[in-house]
Amino acid sequence: MNRNRMIKPGYAYELVNIECMPSSDLFNIVMEVEASLEPLLPYLAATFPGCTYIHGTGVLQFMEEGHIVAIRPTTITITGVEGAVEAESLCIRLFQRITDVAARKGDITPVFKAQPSLTVLDIFLALPRTNCGLCGSPTCMAFAAGLHRREETPASCPPLRTEREKYDTLLQKLQIHGCSL
Ligand code: SF4
Repeated sequence: MNRNRMIKPGYAYELVNIECMPSSDLFNIVMEVEASLEPLLPYLAATFPGCTYIHGTGVLQFMEEGHIVAIRPTTITITGVEGAVEAESLCIRLFQRITDVAARKGDITPVFKAQPSLTVLDIFLALPRTNCGLCGSPTCMAFAAGLHRREETPASCPPLRTEREKYDTLLQKLQIHGCSL
């Protein structure tokens, strides 16, 4: 992958290989912002639905169109991107959302702790994360999103079924979340 750095007003970004999956066709975006986002994080937490944020940790995370987005004071990472076109679009839209929140800051009540009950990210982290495709989904993230939408069941992931403890834990979390499995 061409790691050429793209420079935009207010930020720059590049696509990098996913370190734990060197053979993957997907990439991560690493954005660097010019102005620190640290003071803005509690305001972003108030406006980004389903995000996870604990003030003081310096990171806000959420799912966006199947990607895990992590916003830190000077860097933003976005996982599982197909290529340059998708990367450009995601960066433009995300930076615009952040700019909008900064502009409306005076009207927003900041949130210092945000924790959704069960997120796609929680489910993803409970999966084997090998992207083997045995479940019929192209990636573990896509399968996690399907579980979250209640369109899949954990039993459709053969590698997970072999890890009984992890399987039972995820099953329990999904049931608490209201999934009938
Ligand atoms: S079968 Fe399981 S490990 Fe394989 S891609 Fe699907 S969710 Fe991921």
